[in-house]
Amino acid sequence: MEPPQLPPQSTQCCVAGGGPAGLVLGYLLARAGVDVVVLEKHADFLRDFRGDTIHPSTLTVLDDLGLLEAFLRLPHQEVTELTGDIYGERVTIADFRHLPPPGGFLVLIPQWDFLDFIAAQARQLPSFGLRMGATAEGLVEEDGAVVGVHVREGDRRYAIRADLVVGADGRHTTIREAAGLPTEDIGAPIDVLWFRLPRDAARDPARTGGTIRPGAMLVTLNRETYWQCAFVIPKGSLARLQQQGIAAFRDRVAGLADFLAGAVGALGSWDDVKLLQVQINRMPRWFRRGLLCIGDAAHAMSPVGGVGINLAIQDAVAASNLLAQPLREGRLTVDDLAAVQRRRQWPAQVTQRAQVAIQNELLSPVLARTEAPASVPLPVRLLQRLPLLRRLPARLVGIGVRPERVRTKPVAPR
Ligand SMILES: Cc1cc2nc3c(=O)[nH]c(=O)nc-3n(C[C@H](O)[C@H](O)[C@H](O)COP(=O)(O)OP(=O)(O)OC[C@H]3O[C@@H](n4cnc5c(N)ncnc54)[C@H](O)[C@@H]3O)c2cc1C
Repeated sequence: MEPPQLPPQSTQCCVAGGGPAGLVLGYLLARAGVDVVVLEKHADFLRDFRGDTIHPSTLTVLDDLGLLEAFLRLPHQEVTELTGDIYGERVTIADFRHLPPPGGFLVLIPQWDFLDFIAAQARQLPSFGLRMGATAEGLVEEDGAVVGVHVREGDRRYAIRADLVVGADGRHTTIREAAGLPTEDIGAPIDVLWFRLPRDAARDPARTGGTIRPGAMLVTLNRETYWQCAFVIPKGSLARLQQQGIAAFRDRVAGLADFLAGAVGALGSWDDVKLLQVQINRMPRWFRRGLLCIGDAAHAMSPVGGVGINLAIQDAVAASNLLAQPLREGRLTVDDLAAVQRRRQWPAQVTQRAQVAIQNELLSPVLARTEAPASVPLPVRLLQRLPLLRRLPARLVGIGVRPERVRTKPVAPR
């Protein structure tokens, strides 16, 4: 057995959080010759209730890195269109087939498989270090600048000094608070119940999409052997639902999608249903001298559109494009960090605004309804009649605004 590796005392960049943002950033910086340590508080990436989508924008990034072929060899599903059953009318909401290559589809893959894949690539680079089971517990500060991070790993405590600390510790970030950087809370009127139901590949439909009925919305992602389901509820209403009992909830789900009627029995109790408290927030300022926040830590996303992972990765790509050279050459300034926020703040805000609009204008009214509308909403009729229109939601979900390309080249560490 290999002896446990001693923690490093210093590095050029220490990333707190081994999610999509942190791991991709760690990989990209190490590939560009920067000395990086990524800290991940969990011992593995096997956590449930993370989104499972990899969008065309991320497929392009993987292609830039020469990793796409290997990535697509992992077991996954490819979704070419998103469909909806809206008050009984079937409609194709987004058609990815017309996106520029290598897009054309959305990949469904357990997020831990994606993270394991990136970690395996990164571990081949000499300047990359990943410390699993290592929690960032606070910042080391000197003369008003962040110069490192305090770490707890099992019962061992140590500090790593770094030219840059990156808070990529997700929507429950503690780095943000430790840095004294404020957050603007935008709120959300919905929560999401997240559960799995068995899928009968021979009998069940293949589509991935959603069902809307008066007072209810259900999203069903085809994961081959199971359905990953998201049931949207008004914020804070889980207790009311629980009072009605799990059997009533099973009936409600089966009433929304008849192909689930035989599967809902898998929901034995409320323990099988996980609550996601949706939150949307953002930091007015993402950085301080020696510190930068990216991904959900800088802008927690709603699950609407399932775009959070991809935005987090886009932040990582932009940060590595802008910071790799100054970091490698030991001349990083606060202006470099400001440039990352300038580049990524707008896409995050535009996406959040779209999510807020969908939550307020579409989801909340659906949840408040007791009867179906007299006719299906106009956008649904337009999508039914004008197939070309389906390219727009596909572009917004699949690529988003201001997509990033990898601009750094592989470089040997100094
Ligand atoms: C139920 C649900 C469904 C979603 N569905 C989708 C979807 O389908 N598609 C999509 O694109 N997005 C989806 N999202 C959003 C998406 O998961 C996030 O936007 C995305 O994961 C953000 O990536 P991140 O790297 O910024 O943060 P995270 O993925 O949250 O990663 C942060 C990492 O930091 C670690 N960490 C936290 N604190 C510390 C610490 N102090 N020290 C060390 N490590 C730490 C955490 O363990 C975690 O691994 C969903 C979110 C939820 C909750």
